[in-house]
Amino acid sequence: MPRPKSSGVDAELYRLLVESVKDYAIFLLDPTGHVATWNEGARRIKGYEADEITGRHFSVFYPPDRVAERWPEHELEVAKREGRFEDEGWRVRKDGTKFWANVVITALHRDGELVGFAKVTRDLTERRDAQLKAVDDARRLAMSEEANRTKSSFLAAMSHELRTPLNAIGGYADLLLAGVGGELTEQQRQYVERVYAGQKHLLGVINDILNFSRIEAGQLHYEIESISLQDAIDAVIPLIEPQARSRDIDLTHGGRTRVIVRADGSKVEQILINLLSNAVKFTDAGGRISLCAGVEGEEGWVSVRDTGIGIAEDALGAIFQPFVQVGRSLTSHHEGTGLGLAISSDLARGMGGSLRVTSTPGEGSEFTLRLPLTR
Ligand code: ADP
Repeated sequence: MPRPKSSGVDAELYRLLVESVKDYAIFLLDPTGHVATWNEGARRIKGYEADEITGRHFSVFYPPDRVAERWPEHELEVAKREGRFEDEGWRVRKDGTKFWANVVITALHRDGELVGFAKVTRDLTERRDAQLKAVDDARRLAMSEEANRTKSSFLAAMSHELRTPLNAIGGYADLLLAGVGGELTEQQRQYVERVYAGQKHLLGVINDILNFSRIEAGQLHYEIESISLQDAIDAVIPLIEPQARSRDIDLTHGGRTRVIVRADGSKVEQILINLLSNAVKFTDAGGRISLCAGVEGEEGWVSVRDTGIGIAEDALGAIFQPFVQVGRSLTSHHEGTGLGLAISSDLARGMGGSLRVTSTPGEGSEFTLRLPLTR
């Protein structure tokens, strides 16, 4: 500790300075470890008033086990021998509660003789808690990522196993329908067609799961290039039009667009097909679906708007989660796995874009895919 100048005013100022510091307990111990001075910080951190602590041995600040092993005396011995001692550990307040302290003890000499110790204590409880929490959070995150990877690779392996026999079922159903095994009666044909329809549906579900687990495992490859949103729209409309027409839904698209974005064309089509088939699924006969595209800021956008059942506000966030279907029940007649939107938004993110929704229950929904513009 630097010595104050010998002028009386400066010494007084110096005493005031130390006394009023609030964030550090700064006080003097006599050579045997009894408290000689006290400051505001010491009062705040340890809870004693100056007159009740002055003259008492500083071991009152230590937990009983440390006192029993004579740790306070050890600290003073080291400070005496080496000039300084620093420690971190639990200390005890007047009310018995503990706090995590950083303590520095400095031996004070005058004319070569030990006159006492300066003790500076900081309360690091909050900082220690924050550090422990950060370590704990990191550990939890690592564990959940590991679990996620295990889950993804399990799903990928399982989907592969399921696809092989399903393809065989489809193949043989095909052969039967083509009459390769002999003429079928009308009833046999109906049965085989049902087998075939079931096989197709299952295959779709499994492809979704496989697709999703690949994305989750980071195994998906994107071929990013400059693509025209109009080309993507032109490619998907013919695929959805028959479904829309059969359900008496009007499918329109706004004027032709010249927006060029950086994206993987086949993935953009995959997203649009998913959005459009959802729109068809959740819109009643006589409804409308419209596709629009444009530019906003640094991004190109394409939106699918429907006049369907809409989505309740509290479900808007959840529909992008895997396996979530709003109002799903055993009797619900909507098909699907609840993976379509999870896959689509993952794909959008993977291309540096986003997928968002706005919706009013009873009026309809609008899903907007945004992608970075080509410069
Ligand atoms: P799936 O279509 O297989 O159920 P998705 O992930 O594509 O799975 O969609 C999740 C859920 O979001 C749907 O089950 C439905 O409840 C809701 N949803 C999606 N698109 C629409 C839409 N256009 N209108 C109303 N609800 C929708």
